[in-house]
Amino acid sequence: MVDEQLLTRDIEDKRVLEAMQSVPRRAFVPEGIRASAHMDNPLPIGYDQTISQPYIVALMTQLLVQKVPVGGRILEIGSGSGYQTAILVSMGFEVHCIEVVPELVEPSREVLSSIGLEPASMMVGDGHQGMPNKAPFDGILAAACARKLPKEWRKQLKEGGVIVAPVKRSSGQYLFRWTKKGRALKRENIIPVRFVPLIKS
Ligand code: SAH
Repeated sequence: MVDEQLLTRDIEDKRVLEAMQSVPRRAFVPEGIRASAHMDNPLPIGYDQTISQPYIVALMTQLLVQKVPVGGRILEIGSGSGYQTAILVSMGFEVHCIEVVPELVEPSREVLSSIGLEPASMMVGDGHQGMPNKAPFDGILAAACARKLPKEWRKQLKEGGVIVAPVKRSSGQYLFRWTKKGRALKRENIIPVRFVPLIKS
């Protein structure tokens, strides 16, 4: 997976490649489809949700570590299977997760604890609200697509911190990285993407 899907593209950060190498993706995929665990696409995890494509997980992680030192406090929105969580925890980040589907939270917690990669906290809730009691964050990473950037995310971000998230545009979804500079957010356009929508609860 790492050799064919990541090294041939633009994933070059050693820490990201090592994490992708060491975290077993198959542990986060439902048993019936484990044979496909290392394929280059998203996979169903139930409740109409998916585990993200490995390349996208690696790319978003790389966009984060380029700006946030390891050890930084990260808010992960839409933790789903827990795969992205495991990658971030294994790299040494302090990870706080929010997931809106309660049925996904317990199984992901169990898998993460069984491989010794538990996040600092995990809650059921609507990611639009962020996690005010753990703010401010050095980084916010979202795996579901918002209609526009939620105000709370901007508020809960530290100076110099980054948001890596897909947002809807008229032409389709696009992945962006924003960096907080004073009262402004500097935006970088990354690539067109396809994520599940960020559900309003
Ligand atoms: N990183 C996850 C991606 C799962 S897909 C993985 O690789 O497994 C996106 C996730 O976002 C889904 O689990 C979905 O339930 C969750 N989600 C959707 N809307 C949300 C919201 N408003 N708040 C929090 N999580 C949300």
